[in-house]
Amino acid sequence: MTERTNHTLAVKTTKVEILSSEERLPIKVKEDVFLVRGAKRGAICDTNAGNVYSINEFAVKVIAGQQDDPEYQAQLQQMGLTNGERPVPQEVKRAEPKLNFVWFEIISDDCNESCAHCYAESMPPSHRKALGIENGDNPQILDPRPKLKVEEWQRLIREAFDLGCRQCQFIGGEPFVYHDGGKRVIDLAAYAKEVGFEFIEIFTNATLLNTGTIQRIKELGVHMAVSLYSSVPDVHNSITHLPRSHQMTTNNLKRLKEAEVPTRVESVLMHANQHTVAQTMIFIDELGFEPHNPDVLRPKGRGDNPEIQPDDEYLVRYGLMLGPNFSAPKRVFERYSSSHSCLAGKITITDRGDILPCIFSRDQVTGNVVKAGSLKAVLEKDPINDIWTTTKDDVLVCQDCEYRYVCFDCRPLSQGANGGREYQRAPYPRCTYNPYEGEWGGGTWKLDENGNPYYDETLKPIIEKVRSDGNLGAQTKGH
Ligand code: SF4
Ligand code: SF4
Repeated sequence: MTERTNHTLAVKTTKVEILSSEERLPIKVKEDVFLVRGAKRGAICDTNAGNVYSINEFAVKVIAGQQDDPEYQAQLQQMGLTNGERPVPQEVKRAEPKLNFVWFEIISDDCNESCAHCYAESMPPSHRKALGIENGDNPQILDPRPKLKVEEWQRLIREAFDLGCRQCQFIGGEPFVYHDGGKRVIDLAAYAKEVGFEFIEIFTNATLLNTGTIQRIKELGVHMAVSLYSSVPDVHNSITHLPRSHQMTTNNLKRLKEAEVPTRVESVLMHANQHTVAQTMIFIDELGFEPHNPDVLRPKGRGDNPEIQPDDEYLVRYGLMLGPNFSAPKRVFERYSSSHSCLAGKITITDRGDILPCIFSRDQVTGNVVKAGSLKAVLEKDPINDIWTTTKDDVLVCQDCEYRYVCFDCRPLSQGANGGREYQRAPYPRCTYNPYEGEWGGGTWKLDENGNPYYDETLKPIIEKVRSDGNLGAQTKGH
């Protein structure tokens, strides 16, 4: 096994060597218990109990059968982690993900709000006109291609179902702005229900709901996801750029609660609302919804603006992984080791028919349903499968980390934090683990100008301060 003597990774010019494909293979030490080797340390992933144990270099050698230590071996056996049999490297079966979730982005660039951070760069037509970009002269903001008609959306909903998909989300822009041929988002959700979708969610700012719509949502069993940026009206309104939007959103959240519509409330952390995070969590709780930490702004669309990013202290507290906080249930280990933890089986269809891996992966157009003629044709011909099967074995730095088969990943975040480079390979930017040293909390990973990863120690003092409170930091989750 290659010995690593690489102790200067904080220096930008350091060349990072990657584990060989053989070293990357998990070692099966017992049925459903695996040793995963990292550059320095290892992890025992007990997929029966879901536990992950961090072990040092010596222990890795003992378990891999390269070193003898009867006492340690007996201890592992006592813990139920080995059964005394010879461990064997295990080939990871590559998954063939099937379509299982679609974001129907029925209105990509129209919204009644103009949120500061919008990934889709949506805004009301009047704002666009005021900015002088209403004629499609900036294709980044207003795409001149025709939008899909309601009949085309219905065909795509049917086709996705026929391809085996049972879960979907309607999103925008603002999906309640959508109308075509007298049909609105709720009619499309009703159609999805009729076709047989088992989980249907609408992601909305909830400013445009009325009693009749809420009643229909309730009757259809549709779930809601609602953005709320702050408990403080002025702070929320300054982000949405819509006066009274806070009042409209919270009033409708109360009505959704009263109607017992299953609803989650989501917040994004940025500079404008960072000082109100704690009180916003309390406010969400008082409204009767499950509070959870906000999603730290991803540098995508209008969010790709350093001026609206939260201060470092908030980024560290709410956005960084500061210590090991993993579990390894069998379905997680199998999925993460053979396909992308978040993206496998998912697509976004934009209102111009483009297929994206997810709503944030704006520049990863893997096909177009209008050009291809059908969804099936896009999924057969275009490179979505390559993205679906991207694992952390493909990601710089993570590929040398022992937690790579139990650690969640976000490709557009990694790409966005690295200047839009290396969608499939950019290191995960919100992790403070250095697998070459086997230590947490010294910095974060970035790409240098040559595309090589380096461990940037700028945030180290803040990380140490936050870690001293016993905080393990964030674990990224999907949308
Ligand atoms: S993000 Fe990458 S380096 Fe950090 S713990 Fe996860 S797999 Fe390891
Ligand atoms: S968490 Fe998943 S859905 Fe969200 S931006 Fe990242 S890859 Fe896309």
